Amino acid sequence: MPSIDLHCHSFFSDGTQSPSQLVQQALAAQLQYLALTDHDSINGLAEAHQAAQGTSLTIINGVEISAVWQKQLIHIVGLGIDPQNTNLLAGLAEQAQARAKRGKLIAEKLAQLGIKDTWPEMLALAEGDENRVGRAHFAQCLLNRGIVNNLQKAFDKYLATGKPAAVPMPWTDMLTAIAWIQQAGGVAVLAHPARYNLSQTKLRALLADFKQAGGQAMEVNTANEKVNIINNLAALSQRFELYASQGSDYHGTTMPWLKLGHFAQQPSICMPVWQLLNINLN
Ligand code: AMP
Ligand code: MN
Ligand code: MN
Ligand code: MN
Repeated sequence: MPSIDLHCHSFFSDGTQSPSQLVQQALAAQLQYLALTDHDSINGLAEAHQAAQGTSLTIINGVEISAVWQKQLIHIVGLGIDPQNTNLLAGLAEQAQARAKRGKLIAEKLAQLGIKDTWPEMLALAEGDENRVGRAHFAQCLLNRGIVNNLQKAFDKYLATGKPAAVPMPWTDMLTAIAWIQQAGGVAVLAHPARYNLSQTKLRALLADFKQAGGQAMEVNTANEKVNIINNLAALSQRFELYASQGSDYHGTTMPWLKLGHFAQQPSICMPVWQLLNINLN
């Protein structure tokens, strides 16, 4: 099993676990390195570091920034960022504000569809912080109420782009997201490239633009991805000279099919992103 997981979420975004619980689970899974990569938030990092102190686990400062490329929502993971960088903090504050506003609008749209009073439940799921509310919380609420019978259906029927409760988001553009990460001394990683449902041609265009914009890495071996997809991503990472990242995208109990530290091994043709992160594996 790989001992480096560079993608997971705590309840500082749409995960269900506290950073301390993630550290305990990472230790149980015998991970050596864990990057906490909450959506548009670095607020869980301090607790993660504190919990990992004196243990065999090293926390890597991470974030997963929501961004737009040619009208397509993409996610860009930042690894090894300085959580005190003012440019990054200002950017994330804007994203958090937009997220809180969108949450209330989604609740209004659901109410119009007859699904009333979701907002208090959202706040309960998001530890009382409106800035943390994400679509995964709404999906969980629809599941809890028996309106859908799995999380995916909540997105397919209500929350995905173009569906009745979708609210368009003014997420930052790809170039700016990469700049925030790099100004904070981090490595910009294109998250789960196979999950955007792009044709191979469009995916190549995205990777070319991402590289051109200064992006340094892409995720290759992520959870629940088929071998042929991972091999395709590995070949693309080689072609576009991008380092390869890996991670579980663990979210805790609401997505039980994801487990911390669980994903395929990185294909040997890849340049591992941890070469850029001062991680020496022995
Ligand atoms: P948000 O940042 O609030 O727009 O929410 C994005 C998150 O929702 C992703 O990181 C996933 O956790 C979850 N998500 C998005 N699309 C789906 C989907 N089709 N099925 C299940 N979860 C999804
Ligand atoms: Mn998520
Ligand atoms: Mn993502
Ligand atoms: Mn994620």
